[in-house]
Amino acid sequence: MAVTVITALCCGLFFVAGIIMDNFFAFYSVPDETPPTITINNETVNIAVGGKYEDGGVEAYDDRTEVAITTEGTVDTNTIGEYVLKYIATDEHGNSSEATRTVKVIQPRGIIYLTFDDGPGEYTATLLDVLKKYNVKATFFVTGHGSDDLIVREYNEGHTVALHTFSHNYAAIYQSVDAFLSDLYSVQNRVKNLTGQTVTLMRFPGGSSNTISALYDGGTRIMSRLVDEVTARGFTYFDWNVSSGDAGGAVNSDEVFARTVTQLKDGGASIVLQHDIKDFSVAAVERIIQHCLANGYVFDKLDANSFAAHHGVNN
Ligand SMILES: [Zn+2]
Repeated sequence: MAVTVITALCCGLFFVAGIIMDNFFAFYSVPDETPPTITINNETVNIAVGGKYEDGGVEAYDDRTEVAITTEGTVDTNTIGEYVLKYIATDEHGNSSEATRTVKVIQPRGIIYLTFDDGPGEYTATLLDVLKKYNVKATFFVTGHGSDDLIVREYNEGHTVALHTFSHNYAAIYQSVDAFLSDLYSVQNRVKNLTGQTVTLMRFPGGSSNTISALYDGGTRIMSRLVDEVTARGFTYFDWNVSSGDAGGAVNSDEVFARTVTQLKDGGASIVLQHDIKDFSVAAVERIIQHCLANGYVFDKLDANSFAAHHGVNN
C-alpha cells in the first residue's frame, strides 16, 4: 500500500516537474521568433449602402502559444466608400502578423441570388467551401436525396434551405395535386427534422412554366392548380431569371460562367439557376462570384419577401 502511494507520488512529482520543464523550454530555451499565421477568407466584401456588415472569416494559428486577434478600423454601412479593416494576430511572445480586408459600401449595380437545385449531392461540400470563402449566402432547393449532414451544414452556415419536392420524379409528382403535395410535405418534413425549421419557400421541378407536367396530368392543367394550391397553403414559390444552362446547353464551366454573367440584371435582382449535383457547374461558382464582386453586385439569399422571378404557367 505504502509503496503504491509513494510510487504514485513520485510519478506525480515527475509529471509536474515535466510540465514545468516543458514550459520552461517552451518559453526560455528556444526563442520564439515565428509569428502566427493569419488567414482571411474574403479580402474584398461588397455591402449595399444601408445594409449590414457582419465581421468574421479571420483565423490565426501559432505553433507555440495562443493567439489573440485584434481589429483596427470600422465600417459605416450608411455611407458609400471603401473601408479597410486591419486584423492583427499576436502570439504570447509578441510576434505578430497582419491581414487586411477592404469592405466596399456601394450603391449596388444589382443583387444576385445564387440558387442551387436538386441537391444535396457529391459536390455540395465543395460549393459550401467556396461560398464560405467569399462569405456569400445562397439558396438551396433540396430534395429527398443526398446527405442529411449537408442540409444541416447549409442551414448552419447561414444559407436558405428551401424545398424542391422529395422525389423530383416528374411522372409521380405531376400526376395529381395530391401526389405533388404529399411529395412536397415529405421534403418539408425532412428539412424540419434536420433544421427544426418549417420551410415554406419552394421551387417546382422544371419551374412553374414547365410543360413536362402536361405529359402526366391527364390534361387537367396541373401547374395552374398547383400554383394556386401551394400559395393557398402558405408556400412561396420561386422561378429564376438567369439560367446557367447547366441542365442542358452548357456542358462545361466556361459555358456556365459565360451564360450566367451575360444575363445578369443591371439595377435589379438576378435569380441564378444552377444545380449542385453538376460538378462543372459548381466549379464555375468561384469565377461567377469574383466577377460579380468586381462588377459592383451584391449577393443575398432568398426569403419570403424576395423577388420571385415567376415565369407564368403554361398548363
Ligand atoms: Zn430540379
